[in-house]
Amino acid sequence: MTEIVKCDQCHTTASFFNRHRYAGVCGACFNFNKVTPAVYAQRYQDLLHIFSEAKKRSRGKQYDCIYVARADAEDFFCVHLLVQEGLSVLVVLTNNYFLNDLAWHNFHQLVTYFDVDSVTYNPNLHTYKELVRTSLRRYNSIYYPFKAILHHFVLKIASEKAVPLVVWGQCQPLEFDGKFQKTDELRLSEWWILEHELNGVTPERFLGSGAQLEAGTARHFTFPSVSTGVNREVIFLSNFTRWDQATQNSDALDFGFEPDAPNNTFDQFENAGSSVYYQLHDLLRVLNHGFPKLAVHLAREIRFGRREKLDCQDLTKFLAYDPAPFFKDFLNTTTSGYRWFLEHRLSTVQHLIREAPEINLAKQMASPKPLQNKNIQDFVIFKKGI
Ligand SMILES: [Zn+2]
Repeated sequence: MTEIVKCDQCHTTASFFNRHRYAGVCGACFNFNKVTPAVYAQRYQDLLHIFSEAKKRSRGKQYDCIYVARADAEDFFCVHLLVQEGLSVLVVLTNNYFLNDLAWHNFHQLVTYFDVDSVTYNPNLHTYKELVRTSLRRYNSIYYPFKAILHHFVLKIASEKAVPLVVWGQCQPLEFDGKFQKTDELRLSEWWILEHELNGVTPERFLGSGAQLEAGTARHFTFPSVSTGVNREVIFLSNFTRWDQATQNSDALDFGFEPDAPNNTFDQFENAGSSVYYQLHDLLRVLNHGFPKLAVHLAREIRFGRREKLDCQDLTKFLAYDPAPFFKDFLNTTTSGYRWFLEHRLSTVQHLIREAPEINLAKQMASPKPLQNKNIQDFVIFKKGI
């Protein structure tokens, strides 16, 4: 585990990329404090200029931009903004097979409410599971294959359909890690993908690391060069707006979005409908980096002035994980295999695999809209269309 540098302002900062402090505060708070309304106004004008250039370049083609969907509340804010600004949007979703019924409902609600075209990519499930197994075994991560395939597919579609602009929503290194400032002109590049999405592990290294894969799998991982992409820009919306994630995500309720009731955080909107994000993925975050996503959500709310710092600084008291369904229902691991993994790979966080946390988070933090007795099916394998 890495030592977490505490910030005087958000107290619970869990900056992943930027552990520097500026006069006692973390990079995210430092950058947040110094941006004035005038800067936000200028950044939005910059965004409108990019939109206008994209429209010029797409003249005669079907789409002005691709929006990369996550099937959570953020999509509603982003697609609403793009449609409002008059862009013709193609929504692209890559299935990571971790979305449950709630996420699929929300994705379908998104494309029907805003009446936008969409493409969903379902990677070969057999290959994908093997990649996830390898990723977990080698790198203590279950998201590497999804991220590599996602970037490949988005840029492939953009190339095939000659779409001049690709839009992502939140830029995490900017919003949570304070690695960049709002005024930096951030563009997604091959370097960016390797540095921020793939933890510095190239697809070649990953595939050469003992994965039991059939020939031809590498084609899922290689992507058209974005650095040298002609007439194509890949941007993050949060680079151009104030990005009040909690407020804009809760506004998604007006568009028919259904919030989640996750364990291990109070945020019902970010990554709503994921069967692993606040379970095994979050447990691996604690294992690898020493903090849960709850720390990030708390830091955000304190930074925006909506919450006081918690009396309890030991956030693990709020956590209780159940990774068994992932191993049993997704990876089809045997009981003895699961026990082996717990004992040998999760030993330092095994005490957090329990029925209930020491302190009930929901009692400390009221939820805006608890989910009503939904029968949610985890690990939905087939759900390809509306
Ligand atoms: Zn801070």
